[in-house]
Amino acid sequence: MKNLKNILFIVIDCLRADYIYEANKSHIPNINEIKKNGFSFLNTIATTSTTTPSFSSLLTGLYPFESGVRSHSGYALNKNVITYPEILKKNGYHTYAEVTGPVRQEIGLDKGFDEFNYRNRDKTIHTEWGKFLIKKFESDYKKPWFVLLHIWALHEPRIVLNQLNYEKYGKTKYARAISSIDKYLGELFNVLRDDTIILLTGDHGEQISRSRIERKAKNIIEKCVKSLKKYNIFKIPYSKIIRPIHVGHGYSIYDVLVKVPLIFYNKEIIPNNKSNVQIRHIDIFPTILDLVNIKTDNEVTGKTVMPIIEGKEFSHRDAYLEAVGINIPKKEDWLVGLRVANKYKYIMSPFKKNFKEELYLLEKDPFEKRNVAPNYPQLIEKFKKKIEKLKFKEFVGERLKKEEQDKIIDRLRALGYVD
Ligand SMILES: [Zn+2]
Repeated sequence: MKNLKNILFIVIDCLRADYIYEANKSHIPNINEIKKNGFSFLNTIATTSTTTPSFSSLLTGLYPFESGVRSHSGYALNKNVITYPEILKKNGYHTYAEVTGPVRQEIGLDKGFDEFNYRNRDKTIHTEWGKFLIKKFESDYKKPWFVLLHIWALHEPRIVLNQLNYEKYGKTKYARAISSIDKYLGELFNVLRDDTIILLTGDHGEQISRSRIERKAKNIIEKCVKSLKKYNIFKIPYSKIIRPIHVGHGYSIYDVLVKVPLIFYNKEIIPNNKSNVQIRHIDIFPTILDLVNIKTDNEVTGKTVMPIIEGKEFSHRDAYLEAVGINIPKKEDWLVGLRVANKYKYIMSPFKKNFKEELYLLEKDPFEKRNVAPNYPQLIEKFKKKIEKLKFKEFVGERLKKEEQDKIIDRLRALGYVD
């Protein structure tokens, strides 16, 4: 058996790219250390702005409509889909998942893991569980190991350590929660050896409110709209009311929700550098296999980014995006889109008649405020064709059994996703 390096894959729920790459937004000395000595992709795009399908894409190298998981519930991973932990396991790795939130085994996300350790929300990196986890890295995981660590402390309700609850650790609660996670990661990195490859990303971004007043106002409006809907008092034009005021994730595919950080770190085999090339979440696992020299004939949509890391390739990869599911129950409100070459974002609603398409010029308009779709009919046509070619309307997921679905809905209710 060849000498395989351990792999720690950290996914911080709701982690936006700008809070890791822009200076002084958070206090992150430990993440900065692996950033400085590792390879950063400055334009990494998640496939969706919702946790469960995002993890499914990460673990399979496939878009949601290919893996079968497009939402938090309803469907599970297609039985024919091979997960990357399965491939790692076949090649000598011991595979462990430390997950929480809606990342559930009913969805099939445990496929390929020797241990799929699901924890409840009260067990966080900032409680005894965090210390327990560090001990596992010191002695429990069998080498060579692959560990998927899903960190939930940035997800609402965000956790800020008392000693970091000051403005110098970030202007918002979101920023301070990142600083608090960084402190924990420092302790974790201390027990890891040089034979570990570290990867760090977010499953999707987050829309955060700029002030407490704005947040309260939004919450009130959202609650009113929800209760009016419950009693059928008035039909809500969802995309017009909820989407623009929403704080959180899952409702749209703007860059704040899909642009995530991505750092690869190992002093021996990964150069310290960064790249502006647009890549995708689905490219991560093919790259991991490349890094540890594992060959597979499993054909997926994602492709290794090693040639970019080695400075041999510079072409951007088109990123298909979708916002589908529990937050957007009506098909008519679903959104799909394409992000092209860090230049264009095209958004459409494929099941709605007369939907106003959106096109943003990302270089001039990074916050996607000015829809210029009417000015570029040829581009719109081109992007629409590219999306249609993907056959994204087909469902390939396995429908969940009633008891499995009920379990997931209970879990989602506990997490505040459903009323
Ligand atoms: Zn998430």
